[in-house]
Amino acid sequence: MGCGSDTRRVEGKIQESVRASALREGKASKPLIRNVLFVLSRDSLLERRARGIPDPIERLRYLRSAAGRPPRRARLWLRPLFVAALALFFVCLSPPLASISHANPTPLSLRPLDPPPFPPPGDFGQIWAVEEAADHETFSNGLRIENTYEGGSEPRRPYVAFAASGPRPESAVTLTAPAGLVFHTTESDELPFEPGENQSLQRVSAELLRFVQRHRSYNFVIDRFGRVYRVVPEDQVAYHAGESAWGDGRYIYLDLNLSFLGIAFETRTRPGQPVPDLTSAQTAAARALTDMLRSRYRIPVADCVTHAQVSLNRGYRLLGWHTDFAASFPFQAIGLPDNYALPPAAIYALGFHYDGNYLRLTGPRVLPGLALADRQIANQSAKLGLPENSYRDLLWRRYKELLAAQRKAAGG
Ligand SMILES: [Zn+2]
Repeated sequence: MGCGSDTRRVEGKIQESVRASALREGKASKPLIRNVLFVLSRDSLLERRARGIPDPIERLRYLRSAAGRPPRRARLWLRPLFVAALALFFVCLSPPLASISHANPTPLSLRPLDPPPFPPPGDFGQIWAVEEAADHETFSNGLRIENTYEGGSEPRRPYVAFAASGPRPESAVTLTAPAGLVFHTTESDELPFEPGENQSLQRVSAELLRFVQRHRSYNFVIDRFGRVYRVVPEDQVAYHAGESAWGDGRYIYLDLNLSFLGIAFETRTRPGQPVPDLTSAQTAAARALTDMLRSRYRIPVADCVTHAQVSLNRGYRLLGWHTDFAASFPFQAIGLPDNYALPPAAIYALGFHYDGNYLRLTGPRVLPGLALADRQIANQSAKLGLPENSYRDLLWRRYKELLAAQRKAAGG
């Protein structure tokens, strides 16, 4: 389900059960494929062969064995001698590393050396409100927003974002306008979409909207008839994103409830599904809503992403606690580039990992973005002369500093 406190629990339970099942099968315990994805991008022969393997996990296993990679280095952490040597290594490096986290730049800087590519912001267009009534609004692009389920929430306070070129606490800037959109699925009951179900379809939608209104779960909900409901106004906070992060090449944003708007589609996400279970009315309405919000708040295309791309599990240091719209969001039909191909900041800038379970739920569409993030890690750790795991640990340490800085700025 969506992502207010109760809905988070429901979605969390679903994810836990999937994760537990994957763990039983021995497929989800650790990050699988960092280096292999790099091979994927550089070796066309391997890539062609790999494309013939439908299951993403099997495909990655093939790539790993073909590339002749050694077993996961993570197992080395179990060896006491290796741990002792690494501890000595960090003791030797501790003065410059300490300065990384603070104001003094050093040669061992954590600044991205080759920032991953992001598309330009895109055309914002000019879309304006035509009619503003108590219960609805219409816009110049044909969008109609219903306000009948609008409820109050806390005001959207100013929030901080960190410079993507060097995300340190000192790089924080304070912003107020919504910076991006997170697309969700409600995971609510799905009846057959046919005329005989008309009354039931409307009843289910109304129940969903009352639930979402009560929990302030999203800013907007698009029902199966393509009706757009504003549940939480844009100048108030919807609790849709939970622990989360995204970066667009300009800024890195943490915990997106304050900075990103939540748009939920009344539908369900199924693991690895290539095509979403959306009605054509939903897709058309989502495009009009996205265009209006991008125009009104000057939101770059790279900041319109799915919950699966931004959701974090801090406890396990993994990307993808929530995985709604993991693989099937119709970016093109909504008028956006394929943002599944963008690298998640959680991986390349904040020290998170992803695991086999994430790949199983997302399918192959996220692989190009993950490969870019992995390549960034490989390049930067090589330039700093650090093992990748050590470099990721530095990023993780910095993530916690950024999080503390954000909470301090929010007064929390
Ligand atoms: Zn969600």
